[in-house]
Amino acid sequence: MSESTVQIALVLPDLLGTYGDFGNAVVLDKRMKWRGISSEIVTVNFGEPVPETCDIYVVGGGEDTAQTLAVRHLREHPGLQRAVTRGATVLGVCAGIQIFGESFTRADEITHPGLGLIDSTSHAGGSRAIGEVLAKPAHGLFDGVLTGFENHQGRTVLGPAARPLAHVTVGTGNDGKNEGAVQGKIVCTYLHGPVLPRNPALADMLIEWATGRKVEPLELPAVTQMRAERLKAAGQRAEV
Ligand code: GLN
Repeated sequence: MSESTVQIALVLPDLLGTYGDFGNAVVLDKRMKWRGISSEIVTVNFGEPVPETCDIYVVGGGEDTAQTLAVRHLREHPGLQRAVTRGATVLGVCAGIQIFGESFTRADEITHPGLGLIDSTSHAGGSRAIGEVLAKPAHGLFDGVLTGFENHQGRTVLGPAARPLAHVTVGTGNDGKNEGAVQGKIVCTYLHGPVLPRNPALADMLIEWATGRKVEPLELPAVTQMRAERLKAAGQRAEV
């Protein structure tokens, strides 16, 4: 491990790994290596301390019980919160957006404190949001349409310090209007897929934030084809 190796912390994949969310770490790692940037994945399992020196932190989704265990662990081992203070880049997916907020109220109506990294609160909605999502990135953050698959009961309300990642055109996201959140170098989304293989422009935005340098586009025909198929599937759902 050299000084210049970009470290990607894969945080609690044993608790928060719905729909292969660990793939987000793999995509960040591969997209850096393919460009000659030295990188490595540091896996942090439940029960282990969370390092505070990594460059990117990736947190996935999970059931209410799993996310409650996860938030307790992260509060007891505050490496991620310290890394954010240092300016680390963070991606939180689904349960991730909920535990990064001020609090989340589960389907059993019990409210738990979050990590307070994002100005947001989450609460269980009356129905489960399931299906393909399309959303338009907000503030010109990255090019193209954000696509992914959602499966969550929680709904998220953003406070003034957080801004939406995107605006929903198909699906539910946070509340039927906004999708995800951005605050500093923390990006949250409700989207699985995993989200980064499906949205290479978002992956590259995170890499640029973490490395502080611009990266050249990568031509990957399989990724282009997958995006076209997913966008078509979501578009068809919109027409039903
Ligand atoms: N348990 C949360 C909910 O249902 C998050 C689900 C998820 O991460 N897929 O809202």
